[in-house]
Amino acid sequence: MDCDALILGSSFSGSLLGWILAARGMRVFIVDRGRHPRFAIGESSTPAADLILADLAARHRLPELAPLTRWGSWQATYPQLGCGKKRGFSYFHHRPGEAFRDTPDHAASLLVAASATDAGSDTHWLRADVDTFFCASAARAGAIVREGCEVVEIERRERGWSVRFADSSEGQSGAQECVKAPFLIDATGGGGALASVLGIKALDDTLLTRCGAVYGHFRGVGSWDRLQEATGNFSTTSPFRSDDAAQHHCIDGGWMWILRFRDDLASVGFVQPTDVCRRWMSGESCSLDEAWRSMVSAYPSLAELFDGSRAVRPLGLVPRMSRLWSRASGEGFAMLPTTAGFVDPLHSTGIAHALSGVQRLADLLLAESFDEVGWQAYGEAVVDEVTWIDQLVSACYAVLPDFDRFRLASTLFFLATVQAERGYGQGETTTSQGFLAARHAPLRAALSAARADLVAGGEALPDRLRDRLAPFDPVGLLVPAARHRFAHTAVDK
Ligand SMILES: Cc1cc2nc3c(=O)[nH]c(=O)nc-3n(C[C@H](O)[C@H](O)[C@H](O)COP(=O)(O)OP(=O)(O)OC[C@H]3O[C@@H](n4cnc5c(N)ncnc54)[C@H](O)[C@@H]3O)c2cc1C
Repeated sequence: MDCDALILGSSFSGSLLGWILAARGMRVFIVDRGRHPRFAIGESSTPAADLILADLAARHRLPELAPLTRWGSWQATYPQLGCGKKRGFSYFHHRPGEAFRDTPDHAASLLVAASATDAGSDTHWLRADVDTFFCASAARAGAIVREGCEVVEIERRERGWSVRFADSSEGQSGAQECVKAPFLIDATGGGGALASVLGIKALDDTLLTRCGAVYGHFRGVGSWDRLQEATGNFSTTSPFRSDDAAQHHCIDGGWMWILRFRDDLASVGFVQPTDVCRRWMSGESCSLDEAWRSMVSAYPSLAELFDGSRAVRPLGLVPRMSRLWSRASGEGFAMLPTTAGFVDPLHSTGIAHALSGVQRLADLLLAESFDEVGWQAYGEAVVDEVTWIDQLVSACYAVLPDFDRFRLASTLFFLATVQAERGYGQGETTTSQGFLAARHAPLRAALSAARADLVAGGEALPDRLRDRLAPFDPVGLLVPAARHRFAHTAVDK
């Protein structure tokens, strides 16, 4: 069978690209080894993701996509698709053996609102529902989708690619299909279907962030806001309720995320250094469930929060999350960004980065004449962006458990985010400015220098960073009078 673009992986990024291309008249074929609906991790979206989705909906005339760009329109249009409200990012500093305490100056917390209202807020995606929706939309637009199929062979031909695959339930002896296409897009995420076939070099060990995660879906997780209010601490609810946000509970060595969906469902995960996660994986001293319980019980406020909760599926474990391939595009092939590389869930870059690749590849594939230079530049940019995210995220881990410096390191990340989002709001795309403003050379140089300063530490660090970064701080993230509370940082969608 011949098609114009063959996409490996039908998760939201592969499916959305397939949806756009099919809706614009291309013959698209999508193959996935799994079947929808299925559990997937990576659920917390961001203003950058919303802005890219809004751009895709408008430019490719997909009105069905537009409601997913805000919590309010999502609820009104697709109440059946699982979604959580995300007013912003909240961070809390826990010490082992001590109940969480904050001060009037918020010494132990940071709340960064993205959106100013509930209706305009970001979302957490219940991936089983959202990925199914994108894949079904691609099929409705005309893409041919094969689920539950294992790739058997990928072959480079003179004019494109030939891929053979078979129904995974039948094994290699089952009936096989072969599809030929001039363009092969790898959207298999950590599956890395293409890199191994092409012998692309892994750059995982060049990345500075080295964490793993243990995670699951839970019911019965208590309300962090109500727990704090009961102790007389009201610092978690302004400028937004932290139950309506991505909660980051910073602990020794890492942090825990809590993302709340409807019907009492919550996504929860611990991020810890890779060597700790490898020990959990080996089960040498205890089972994964025991490791989880001992992490929770080490922090009394978390123990109270999880008292009476239960996991609704077995815990998942990824001992090392950061990975990167040295090439993300070449003759007739490209990887979506989260296939080319991924750093860490801290600050939620994955969904937006994946969507930025959909935005760029859709433009390249739909152009009237093929832009060979642009195609190569896409791949180089994506690899560079993963190293840029790594620079910013690894700084946060490098300074833990010093929460003051962790907040400053997070602020460096938010400065890049604010710059990028303002660019998108003014009509720039990830082709012009890169992801997370990676192509903004002055900002990148200033943040890189600030990162080195921050990791080295020393006296009057907040003042030094504020002076150095003032030209890049339009919303006053480094202004001490804000006392670690920011009511509105994102551009309005
Ligand atoms: C623990 C953890 C937490 C995260 N939290 C966040 C977060 O809060 N916010 C955020 O923005 N990002 C987060 N991420 C990142 C996020 O998960 C990814 O960015 C996102 O899942 C990428 O989506 P994708 O569509 O590119 O690929 P994936 O979701 O990885 O999907 C890949 C698809 O390819 C299929 N596949 C794999 N191999 C093959 C093969 N050989 N042949 C055919 N099909 C194949 C799979 O079945 C799957 O459907 C997190 C990541 C991890 C590991």
